[in-house]
Amino acid sequence: MAGGSSGTRSGFYAGGHVWVPMEEVIRPGAVDDDRLDRSRRVEWLDIDAVIEARVLMAGAGALGNEVAKNLALSGFRDIRIVDMDRIVGSNLNRCMFFNSDDASTRRLKAEVLADRVNTLCGDARATGIVRRVEEIPAEEFDAADIVIGCLDNIAARAYVNAATYAAGKLYVDGGMDGLIGKVMIVRPPNGACLACGMNRSHSRVADVRFSCTGSEVTFHEPRLAAEVTTTSVIGAVIVREAVKHVSGRSDLLLSNLFYYDGSRNRSEELEIEMNPDCAVHRERQATGIRNP
Ligand SMILES: [Zn+2]
Repeated sequence: MAGGSSGTRSGFYAGGHVWVPMEEVIRPGAVDDDRLDRSRRVEWLDIDAVIEARVLMAGAGALGNEVAKNLALSGFRDIRIVDMDRIVGSNLNRCMFFNSDDASTRRLKAEVLADRVNTLCGDARATGIVRRVEEIPAEEFDAADIVIGCLDNIAARAYVNAATYAAGKLYVDGGMDGLIGKVMIVRPPNGACLACGMNRSHSRVADVRFSCTGSEVTFHEPRLAAEVTTTSVIGAVIVREAVKHVSGRSDLLLSNLFYYDGSRNRSEELEIEMNPDCAVHRERQATGIRNP
């Protein structure tokens, strides 16, 4: 053993003359052991409510991967992930939790995503539910504190929108089209729902023109898959809204559409008005909301 090792201890001279050993500078404590410490420091954020909340997520594709990661790292633990598809090679450049082995063995997206989220956060309890989105039972919507849509087809989104509205739960719907993304907040029993922007047949989506911000924007309902940076932005906005909602800060929520143009990195908050002819609202008036 070499002598004189005490002379090699690391540190620095504070103020030019007081020696401060490095072990006194880097001093792990309780706050460093708490993985949610940085969230606890956000004044409006109720981390205990986040930990207790149940999230129902529809879709385990590119956006689902981003949202699941953000949910778990934000402190959400009870995450129900619905998807019936299997992983294929083209998913891999946009899905951080899927790998080439998953694609070669065509593993189920919902199950793999739930497993990987639980590995990322050891105390998470993500559950994969392998079934069509249109077959999610009403009890799942009733048991959820918030419902998040990470879907890429209109029929599934229309179903989740209507089912969530009937359950009286907050619905956060994400959609993307190349470099364009959007997040819509649906808050029953008030305000517009996703279907308010659709045509009456719900078989295709109409373009909606907004002018509430002073500059007119023609919003096209997303039809194409996005590239990963757009997915990241939209996934982040979705989970930020989820954290606000379960923290009891509905006053901070978007009202009711976030529109993002990735080509210029610009965003706008737009407001959609309720469509009196929307079938979802007519249905609610006829049958009421299960959990008012
Ligand atoms: Zn509506």
